[in-house]
Amino acid sequence: MEMQLDILAFGAHADDVEIGMGGTIAKYASKGKQIGIIDLTQAELSSNGTVDLRKKEAEQAGEILGICLRDSLGLPDRGLFLREEYIEKVAGVIRQYRPRLVFMPFPIDRHPDHGNCAKIVEEAVFSAGIRNYPTTNGLEAHRVEHTYYYMINGFHKPDFVIDISSFIKYKTASLKAYQSQFTKDPNSVDTPLVNGYIETIEARERMFGKEVGVMYAEGFKQKKPLLVDQDLLGESI
Ligand SMILES: [Zn+2]
Repeated sequence: MEMQLDILAFGAHADDVEIGMGGTIAKYASKGKQIGIIDLTQAELSSNGTVDLRKKEAEQAGEILGICLRDSLGLPDRGLFLREEYIEKVAGVIRQYRPRLVFMPFPIDRHPDHGNCAKIVEEAVFSAGIRNYPTTNGLEAHRVEHTYYYMINGFHKPDFVIDISSFIKYKTASLKAYQSQFTKDPNSVDTPLVNGYIETIEARERMFGKEVGVMYAEGFKQKKPLLVDQDLLGESI
């Protein structure tokens, strides 16, 4: 079924999008915007949890943020290499959901899958807009207006930030939905994720907020210069 989304956010694994931009998603969803999340893999190689459990956690996280669509493409975890069949699949998804904005992970990240996810999505955004590029679902070309990068691991100087002070609680709740990933229990494998990861993300967003005089903000990167469409005194022009 074709639909028109305002925002489509891609991640390699369910929880990537929540880590990078859960607050922004909750904020835009609260304004009635139509938002989808596509996870390229089922995170089948994760140290903790199972594919089924991760799927349930992802559904719950999406409900907390107010998204209208979530799907996993089932590409191989740790196998997100730049292959034509993956680009074609993602391009088909972009044509199906016709988003105005696409978000993807910022490629400088300790986990190579996050950067590889961005490479596939960048290629797919471009191909999806080419009229004569065929996708197996046979849908018409769609041009995305803007692409942006959210941050998963690490702290980079953002090109712009979005105030999420009123939505940090939804972001944190969406992350806590991934109990298998972020909660330490006697059976869990000891990873950086079960050792205070959510707190470090909250601290990062607090720091991004501090930079611009708000409580919490999410930071983004982009390739194009940011077009400011209100004047610098905050009035519409
Ligand atoms: Zn990930």
